[in-house]
Amino acid sequence: MASQIIREWAGINTFAPATQTKLLELLGKLKQENVNTLTILVMGKGGVGKSSTVNSIIGERVVSINPFTSEGPRPVMVSRTRAGFTLNIIDTPGLIEGGYVNDIALELIKRFLLNKTIDVLLYVDRLDAYRVDELDKLIAKAITNTFGKEIWNKAVLALTHAQFTPPDGLPYDEFFSKRSEALLKIVRSAAQIKKDFPLASSVPVVLIENSGRCHKNDNDEKILPNGTAWIPHLVETITEITLNKHASIHVDKKLIEGPNPNERGKLWIPLIFALQYFLVMKPIQGFIKRDIAEQSRPSWERQRETGYRRRDFS
Ligand code: GDP
Ligand code: MG
Repeated sequence: MASQIIREWAGINTFAPATQTKLLELLGKLKQENVNTLTILVMGKGGVGKSSTVNSIIGERVVSINPFTSEGPRPVMVSRTRAGFTLNIIDTPGLIEGGYVNDIALELIKRFLLNKTIDVLLYVDRLDAYRVDELDKLIAKAITNTFGKEIWNKAVLALTHAQFTPPDGLPYDEFFSKRSEALLKIVRSAAQIKKDFPLASSVPVVLIENSGRCHKNDNDEKILPNGTAWIPHLVETITEITLNKHASIHVDKKLIEGPNPNERGKLWIPLIFALQYFLVMKPIQGFIKRDIAEQSRPSWERQRETGYRRRDFS
């Protein structure tokens, strides 16, 4: 198969000059550490802003966004290069549909990721939501079951719709920390992470505002209500996670198929045979033997016995 020609990351030029400078600095930092390719997997419920986030990072409208209908069923990988560095971002369909984890979407994501290496999981949800529910638990569990709990060592929790005023006069930062903590608690329980285990207590949370109406600072950089220029902050967090001490997640056949189904339960086979012998075969054998013994007696003897018995009961 001919190797695909990867397009230049031209969208970076659409960012404010200050943002561009910081992004190029971060790419330089990655290259210094011999990281020349970075693959980001974007996952989350439908409609939370996954595709919009992919477009925001690339700086082009590369994947379609849709406010009303559910997304296409297949994952899409967008690749761009810049100064010898390749960025891959995988946009995925929403994992929750009709109140359940969409197993078909999950299966397609797994197949799509076969032989790829995930450097960072961008787990997307909205900032402007107040409750976490059973579905959030299901989705975090599905991710854990698919990739193993180590995936959370490589995760960033990204909260979209960050240009938002919290209700009841709650300070922005307080709302942000309450919302993040509620979601991280779910991640910890889905990954069965003990409180003292360093994993996932350290999943960083970043804020994102994909709207074209996002406020800007004097340098023309897109900023959040707390003043943070969110694109450089997001890319900086992604860089830190990439360079942390934990290995990236390589998706191979073993990982996506779990234990070999032919091996599963092999140990039970002798026990099942033994149980079958004692509980089924033995009683049947006994029954047949008794029947043969019965049949071998002359019929007048058997009839007389039944006759006597009948009389006994009468
Ligand atoms: P996906 O289903 O998770 O891929 O979500 P989309 O990226 O398709 O976004 C769903 C809708 O939310 C679209 O109408 C987007 O314009 C809107 N949206 C996404 N992110 C943001 C955000 O950060 N702020 C605002 N205001 N709207 C957003
Ligand atoms: Mg989408």
